[in-house]
Amino acid sequence: MPLPLITHPHYSYSFADKHRFPMQKFRLLHALLVEQGIATNSNVYRPAKASMQLLKHAHCADYLAKFVENKLDKSELRRMGLPWSEALVRRTLLSPVGTLLTCQLALKNGIACHLAGGTHHAHFDFGSGFCILNDLAIAANSLLAQGKIKKILIFDLDVHQGDGTARILHRQDNAFTCSVHCEKNFPARKAESNLDINIPSGASTEEYLEMMMDGFERAVRLSQPELIIYDAGVDIFSGDPLGLINVSVDGIRRRDHFVLNRAAELGIPIATVIGGGYDKDERALASRHATMVVLCRDAFIERMQDAFELAANIFQFHCKANFLHSVFTLKSRIQV
Ligand SMILES: [Zn+2]
Repeated sequence: MPLPLITHPHYSYSFADKHRFPMQKFRLLHALLVEQGIATNSNVYRPAKASMQLLKHAHCADYLAKFVENKLDKSELRRMGLPWSEALVRRTLLSPVGTLLTCQLALKNGIACHLAGGTHHAHFDFGSGFCILNDLAIAANSLLAQGKIKKILIFDLDVHQGDGTARILHRQDNAFTCSVHCEKNFPARKAESNLDINIPSGASTEEYLEMMMDGFERAVRLSQPELIIYDAGVDIFSGDPLGLINVSVDGIRRRDHFVLNRAAELGIPIATVIGGGYDKDERALASRHATMVVLCRDAFIERMQDAFELAANIFQFHCKANFLHSVFTLKSRIQV
């Protein structure tokens, strides 16, 4: 079974003028995965536009109406950090459904990747730091309200603190927020997550990985989740203009491998979102985001291979022709 990927052609659109937000990275990431044969017609899902009812799981109705109808004032727009347009509204209303769909597919398949998402600075009634709607909080509250899961962990490894997520989910006992972020970075006024890991400015790859791994183990132990939403922001990269810590490209790969591998070992479904990354070279940025998706694909196939090995052992004791057939069918799918 191929790795489920979630994206939409409307995620990227052209700004009228040069802007520091890399709006093309979503399109470039998808294109790169198509090139590598990882994204195909059979494993790419498109989200639909969000209903107001869904968005109210994390936002107030007044704020939603003001954003959609272009009634935010200048200071609200400045804080949001993106110029208002119909195209911005269109992509903003798709992305939270993308994250929710990713969670649903992860619960069904063990793992799924949203090729966007992680807008963790969006608050209940205002947008901030390029984030307008908090897809993480919307998905968590929606899944919990539907009774799909009893406990969820949001493990946020974007270099900036997930302040919006922490505040929106502050009273949600069944959602555990863990943010591993640079202590001297945006936002200046931090929120209180269930677990905050403060990485010092200028931290090396090894220092970062050690603190991150400790954070993961503590967060899982404290939350006992039935689903992890993993925000795999790549703005921890040493060359990122908004990062302030010094993690190498190989460090990002090791980080993602650790998280995916631990989730697989613990048998906890994991839904990934790409989070932040602001390199001006958007192709290099897209390939950094792709690292995590490639690892997800490998982790997924490894898990399927484990299932195959288990099935093969059982077969030695119960030699049944129809079982043999199903094993070989599974094996041939993996080899494709
Ligand atoms: Zn960030």
